[in-house]
Amino acid sequence: AAKAAGRNCIRFFLPEMDTALQARIELERTIREAVLNDRFELHYQPLFEMSQRRLAGFEALIRLPAADGTLIPPLTFIPVAEELRLIDQIGAWVLREACRTAATWPEHLTVAVNLSPTQFVAGSISGIVAAALKEAGLAAHRLELEITESLLLGNTETIMAQLLTLKAMGVAIVMDDFGAGYSSFSYLWRFPFDKIKIDRSFIQGLDGSHCQVGTVVKAIIALGRELHMRVTVEGVETANQAAFLESADGDQAQGFFFGRPVPASELSASILADFEKTTPTPSSATAQAA
Ligand code: C2E
Ligand code: MG
Ligand code: MG
Ligand code: MG
Repeated sequence: AAKAAGRNCIRFFLPEMDTALQARIELERTIREAVLNDRFELHYQPLFEMSQRRLAGFEALIRLPAADGTLIPPLTFIPVAEELRLIDQIGAWVLREACRTAATWPEHLTVAVNLSPTQFVAGSISGIVAAALKEAGLAAHRLELEITESLLLGNTETIMAQLLTLKAMGVAIVMDDFGAGYSSFSYLWRFPFDKIKIDRSFIQGLDGSHCQVGTVVKAIIALGRELHMRVTVEGVETANQAAFLESADGDQAQGFFFGRPVPASELSASILADFEKTTPTPSSATAQAA
């Protein structure tokens, strides 16, 4: 009877497991193929300078084209690429490509690149960054490297040393997704970040019943200022949220309200030059909505 039940179980679960396994194998194949044939894409999302009401730069966000023409988001394939030990290679490509693209933009615009913790394991990240800058002819101060606190959970001494080397090169070091984890605050005084990006869950909490979240955002902005770190607020989607940020005196804002990530080819010279005219300001967007 047990054997029969076992057989039933197998019959019941097998098709589903098979589908998941097939999807995983297909994803691995797509990743390997993209690495071999340079098939990844970078999309660029604007960062908006609040006080000057103008474009400050872009964050480079990777996408993996699937066979059916859709784009696989990074949160789906980056963990798999890390397991396959392909993230170093992919990460180096992202750095080269982002630096090359930024070198074609007006000189006041920056480019931000996300780094995976495993890119620090081999210990050669500063060399890879230096090579990408040199090859593109991009000034180091135009590159921002975004890390998350998960990087700092590990072997902090060697990580800190590598971050300091990068900072000494003139590259900006950014703490991404600030406040999303459990221990963000304990790293603020251990490393002189150039910028912190407040996780989008905060600004998006404004629209809910979390009446204190605005106070917390303002406090983080004030803390950043005291620590000489610039503060970007991520995930700004509505005119209300943008208006709040103006009052909160944050340095930069990023989110669908200011612009979605787009391929470099869609960042025409006129968009780059006239961004302030084409970007909805909080007040004009409110007027349109009204
Ligand atoms: P992140 O660095 O925090 O990037 C911001 C993410 O939020 C992006 O998702 C962006 O599309 C999304 N986003 C921006 N504005 C809004 C908004 O107003 N509302 C909402 N709901 N979302 C918004 P994306 O592109 O899917 O990237 C997800 C994460 O994947 C990134 O989070 C980053 O941690 C990682 N990632 C992206 N590109 C790379 C890369 O080249 N290398 C590595 N290692 N990680 C990457
Ligand atoms: Mg980021
Ligand atoms: Mg983020
Ligand atoms: Mg994030």
